[in-house]
Parts: sequence; C-alpha cells; structure tokens
Amino acid sequence: VRMRQAQRNMKGVKLQYTEAGRITFDDVAGIGDAKVELMEVVDFFLKPERFRRSGAKIPKGVLLCGPPGTGKTLLARAVAGEARVAFLSLNASEFVEMFVGVGASRVRDLFSQARTLAPAIIFVDEIDAVGRVRGGAMGNDERDQTLNQLLSEMDGFSARSAVIVMAATNRRDVLDPALTRPGRFDRIIYVGKPDFEGRIEILKVHLEKRLEDGRRRPHTLTEEQLHAMSFETREFSGAMLASLVNSAALAAGRSGREAVTFDDLEQALEEERLGPRREPYSDDRSMRLAVQEGATALVCSLLPAIEPVVLVTIVPREKYPLGQTVCKVNEQRERTRMFTRRYLEEQLLTVLAGRAAEELVYGLDEVSTINQRRLIMARRIVTKLVAAAAMSDAPVVGPRTLTQPYDMGGRTLLQVFPRRYTNEMQYGANVEMERLLNEAAGNVRALLQRNRAALDVIVSTLTVKGAGSLSGDEVRAIVREHGCPE
Ligand code: ADP
Repeated sequence: VRMRQAQRNMKGVKLQYTEAGRITFDDVAGIGDAKVELMEVVDFFLKPERFRRSGAKIPKGVLLCGPPGTGKTLLARAVAGEARVAFLSLNASEFVEMFVGVGASRVRDLFSQARTLAPAIIFVDEIDAVGRVRGGAMGNDERDQTLNQLLSEMDGFSARSAVIVMAATNRRDVLDPALTRPGRFDRIIYVGKPDFEGRIEILKVHLEKRLEDGRRRPHTLTEEQLHAMSFETREFSGAMLASLVNSAALAAGRSGREAVTFDDLEQALEEERLGPRREPYSDDRSMRLAVQEGATALVCSLLPAIEPVVLVTIVPREKYPLGQTVCKVNEQRERTRMFTRRYLEEQLLTVLAGRAAEELVYGLDEVSTINQRRLIMARRIVTKLVAAAAMSDAPVVGPRTLTQPYDMGGRTLLQVFPRRYTNEMQYGANVEMERLLNEAAGNVRALLQRNRAALDVIVSTLTVKGAGSLSGDEVRAIVREHGCPE
C-alpha cells in the first residue's frame, strides 16, 4: 500500500517490489566480479548491524559504467531483489527535460520518498544527462541545479537512512568529478560486454527462463552448440543475446514446439543479421539471384585471403532484398580498416563474380542489371588500389596518392585527381585501373569456368524449393567435392 501511495505521488518514478517478479543475482550472468562487489551492498541491507558495529565504510553511491544493454539496470534491480528492499528508478534525462527549477525539486521528492520507503535503492539511469561536467560556455543552469541537489541529498543522508543510490552511465568520460568524490558515487563498477564464457552463461539464463507456470523453459542445446552460439555472437551485449533467445523461442512457438533448438537460434541469428524475410521472388528472379550469390560464395571460398563463408542466401530480406553472401567478420580488419593489396585484389574478384557467372550461365546477350551495385563496388576497389593507396605497379603513378580529401557538408570525401597532377599521370592511372578491372574480370571468369560443376550444384541447391540458403559448411563441402581451386 505504501508503494502504491508513493507511486501516485511521484509520476515518472518506477517502483518495483513484487515477490513474483523479483529479480535476483541468478538472473544476471556473464559480468565477472560485479556481483561479488555488489554483494556488499546487499549485505548492508541484510546485516546493517555488522556495518555499524565494525564502523566499516557504508556504501552510499554505486556507479555502474559500461556500454548499453550489458545488464546495469538488471543488476541494480537484482541488488534490490536480493536485499528485498524497495526499488525506485528514474531516468536522469527525465530530470532535465522538465521546466526550470523542477529538476531539483524532483530530486528532493525522490529522496524523501526513498526515505519513507527505506530500506530502498534509488536507481538513476543515464546519470550523465545531469552529471556532465558543469560550467563552461555550454553551461546549463537547470542541469547544474539538478546535479547540485542530487549531490547535496547524497551528502545529507547517513547510515541510518538505509538508502543507497545506484546510477548507470555509458559515458563515464563526461561525468563531473564531483559525482565520484568519496561519500558520493565512490564505488565504481565496470560492467562490460560479456566474453566467450559470459555469453554462454547469459544464453543459458535466458534459454532456461522461468515460464508463467513456474517451470523452466526446455531447450535441446548441447554444450558444444552453446559454444558455437557464443562464438557466433561475438560483440553481442546481454540485451542482444536476450532478444536473440526471445526470437528463437517465438519461432519455436510458431512451429508448435516448446523446446528451443539450436536451429531456432541459428535462424534467429541469421534473421538478426539480415533483417526479416520478405515475400519470395518468382522462379526466374530466384534463379538469377542464385547464380549471382552462388558464384560469389563459390569465389569467396576459393580465395585464400577472403574470410570463410558463413552463409549464402537468396531469400529476400528486409536489409538485403537481393540475397547476400556473408563471410566471417574479421574484427581486426573491421576495426583498423587496413587492407592489403592481396586482399583488395581478391575482393575485386568476389564483387565481379556475379556478373561473370551471369555471362557464363545466360550468355552475354542475357546479362542483366542485377549486378550494377557490385560493378560500382569494383570501380571503388580499383580506385583504391591505384589512385588512393598507390598499390599498382604502374610507374606513372609510383608512390603517389592521386586523391585528396575534401569537405562535403561535414563529411570528408576523397576527390580523385586533384588539379595538381599532370594529364599524363591521370591518363596513366586510368589506363592502369581499366587494366586491373579487365584482368580481374578475366580471372574470375576463368575461375568460374574451371569450377562450373561446383557452381551448378550450389545454384541448384539454392533454388530447390524451400531452401534458399546454404551454410558456409555446405558451400565448402560442395567445393571439396566438385571444385577445382588451383
Ligand atoms: P543496461 O541497463 O546496461 O543498458 P539492461 O539491464 O537494461 O542493460 O539490459 C536489458 C535486458 O537485457 C535485461 O533486462 C536482460 O533481459 C538482458 N541482459 C542484459 N545483460 C544481461 C546479463 N548480464 N545477464 C542476463 N541478462 C542480461
């Protein structure tokens, strides 16, 4: 009843404390030592005498830092759940969106509510919205007042108030140092994205979620399959893993099964990457796409510098309506954006594969516009090779980059051939680019001709009714049996 009254008094503040919906540490996984550190906060509520007697330092404010979706809110709720205390949560941006002067008084109300409900945890999400470094030309009076009020409330309460403030941010770097001074948010806990083991733990928590009738949800995943899933979800946050399992469970439900399978998860992952499925195309169009994507996947798996194929699909998707060949992500390359000449040359072959295959299968008169976008990509790659990164052997280009950055409405673009270069140089570079393109087109045609048998098997498997997709392993198996890599 007290809760309900409080709820009425404070709009915007969420209060949670129902036994059924109680979140505990068991619901949070893959976050390393954070739980151990937060155990102390739980102990403060459960065994306050111990703190008082020993004169140990009482936790007042705990700051959870880390990227979005890593379980910071969940953790704060779990601390309240473990300690069975009231939980008042508020997003700090709600303070600043209010009228001048209101933010500070809301903070006052929030703390006085917490004191009446004590023992309690106040959780302020996105604290950076009020806690940015103060002052300066960009100063914001309203925000400063709100922050000052928050700080003075925290300074004001004592061990007896039995209220602990938890806050979360993914912008630790912009926080006002006043917030992290002793006696305020002096416990800082970093919650990062889960590692390999962590992802397995989180997947398990969500796969084995409690159903409405109190049973745990059944699933058929073996340890190896959980490992495989964890491997495939590198860079996923806890929230992304939770939503993946949720889509898989929905898919299982749609086909009338209760237990979630590995295939459900794979399918959900594929969907996540490519966007939801759309209406299938006519047989004609599907065949075109199968030739284009089949050839791309084939060429990708024949080339040593290209990452292994994960999946090739001609099922039209929200993000890729024309099908797609997905290769393993090379995280380092993605991060550094550093490409070698060999890699770019092979990349050039992969983007030209679709066109070459169309020519082989349908004949020159019947090639279509379907490859237009890839041809533009091919043009970009040769420009990079010859003009931007000076990777060609053409002596007229030599060690010169023939591009120059220029500003276009805040975006930096590369202009090819700025004025200062001679016509000879431009001409030479152009000739070199055309030569590279033609050479690559010839090479990929020859490669596909030699591997025609493998191409035909891939295309026919892709167009078999209901298939539409091949896994990387399936493509490699076909290449092993029918291919001719040399
Ligand atoms: P944050 O506050 O860090 O942005 P949330 O706590 O709101 O993230 O996470 C959103 C949801 O994602 C949670 O309710 C939970 O279902 C899931 N989730 C995120 N991290 C974890 C985790 N470490 N363990 C289990 N589930 C998690």
